[in-house]
Amino acid sequence: MTIFRCAGCRQPLTSEVVAGEPLRGPERPAAHEVVSPRMAAGTFKVNFDASLLILHPGDVPGTAPHPDARRLAGCCGVAGQDGPNLVCSGCGIEVATKESDCWTDNLVALILAVTDETKVL
Ligand SMILES: [Zn+2]
Ligand SMILES: [Zn+2]
Repeated sequence: MTIFRCAGCRQPLTSEVVAGEPLRGPERPAAHEVVSPRMAAGTFKVNFDASLLILHPGDVPGTAPHPDARRLAGCCGVAGQDGPNLVCSGCGIEVATKESDCWTDNLVALILAVTDETKVL
């Protein structure tokens, strides 16, 4: 198991997670609906260029919504097309982008450059 922490203040950002594979490919809903999460709860996948960690939206308890409401724009959820929209709830730095809208994917992308990895048994 691994916990990813904020590199700024060391607060845990994620739950205990393990490497896994996405439940499906990149997908956007055909109609006005929110697709199921890309990743199963408790799992993560590093993206193609190793800059982002893709997670289930429920696996980032150490984050908080961005204070700038423009980052949180969305219809049924948050679109995540205007830059990072989740901050570390400890120190406030931008740490991730959540997509959960009716025309986007459904995932959280944690920015690896601002996180530290801690192995837990
Ligand atoms: Zn909608
Ligand atoms: Zn922090």
